[in-house]
Amino acid sequence: MSDGPQLATLLASVLDDADGAVTPPIVQSSLFSFENYQAFEDRMAGRTTQPIYTRIQNPTVAAFEGLMAKAEQGDAAVAFASGIAAISSTLLAHVQPGDQIACIEHVYPDTFRFFERMLRPFGVQITYHPVSAFEEDADLLKGVKFAFLESPSSVVFAPMNLPLVAEHAQRHGTITMIDNSWASPVFQQPLTLGIDIVIHSASKYISGHSDTVAGVVVSSHDHIARIRDLTLSLLGAKLAPFEAFLLTRGLRTLSLRMRQHQETANLFVDRLAALPQVRRVNSPGANIVPGLKGRSGLMSVEFDDNVDIPKFADALQHFRLGVSWGGFESLLLPASVGLAQAGEQNSMQKFGVSPNLVRLSLGLEDAEDLWADFSTALSQSAA
Ligand SMILES: *Cc1c(COP(=O)(O)O)cnc(C)c1O
Repeated sequence: MSDGPQLATLLASVLDDADGAVTPPIVQSSLFSFENYQAFEDRMAGRTTQPIYTRIQNPTVAAFEGLMAKAEQGDAAVAFASGIAAISSTLLAHVQPGDQIACIEHVYPDTFRFFERMLRPFGVQITYHPVSAFEEDADLLKGVKFAFLESPSSVVFAPMNLPLVAEHAQRHGTITMIDNSWASPVFQQPLTLGIDIVIHSASKYISGHSDTVAGVVVSSHDHIARIRDLTLSLLGAKLAPFEAFLLTRGLRTLSLRMRQHQETANLFVDRLAALPQVRRVNSPGANIVPGLKGRSGLMSVEFDDNVDIPKFADALQHFRLGVSWGGFESLLLPASVGLAQAGEQNSMQKFGVSPNLVRLSLGLEDAEDLWADFSTALSQSAA
């Protein structure tokens, strides 16, 4: 954050409890009762704002939402039970049959499946374009209702010039929406770059501990009110109070954790470049595009044909094998495993990704221990 207090300070300042508690209470109540008839009627008529029912409003969830709105510098936020619920609930609150969505290639695979298996059968048109087309073709978004962006994109981590694309979109009246899970608000605040709606899979860096599945949307009052009114209420994928508590706890250390992820990622990027088996490293760093302030710990590495990837994976001691990312523990996800996913349409199959690619989530273990593990396993993995 360039002006005003830093994120960590901002987040610490929000909780204001009469008893002096420094963490939010977990309000484990499904309903909220009213003092008398008049108070009940006033609330139902929209004249007051007291919570009614936890599907729609809960104080612990609201504390997390308030922190996220501040972190992304938005007007308001709404939390969901998962990142994909945040994505689907945002789009379903806004699109109609006949509308067109323009999406980046190499989008998160379940976002792609949501578009292809759910929105397209409802009559929504979806087209996919490389990052360069969004940047260079000022008329790409003509007639397009929604631009769905990730910067960087999933698995190949292609970064996008967001202020430029936001400018093209504004000219055509296109609503821009970005999945900002990779950067977190510490390294990128898309609303300040002209993007309309930010979503996060809070299961990743925002939680930070691999113990929660959650999502959140941050935007203007109008967009958030529409999502609350339609899809939060009527599809009902609300966040649980206990998970909101865990996410608030995660936010407290987000800046600190992102700094450590970046330090380890910088070490890997420097040393990977010197390895003969490495063809390419996909890991956008600070300032490679306007508004990107840092390098997170999620990257991919393309090996040459002399590396036996199953052998490499099995030789690792600290890195675990698994999906998801953004927690304490370092993880490896070989693209060949993702590409082998049975019976599914997959954005990586459709837009191409090398089977020699592996995705790394660099966690919070000691960077030198991780490097020793990675380089030792690689030296034992000749095909
Ligand atoms: C994990 C992930 C999602 C989906 O989030 P869930 O919390 O698993 O539903 C969306 N986008 C990106 C980039 C992700 O990594």
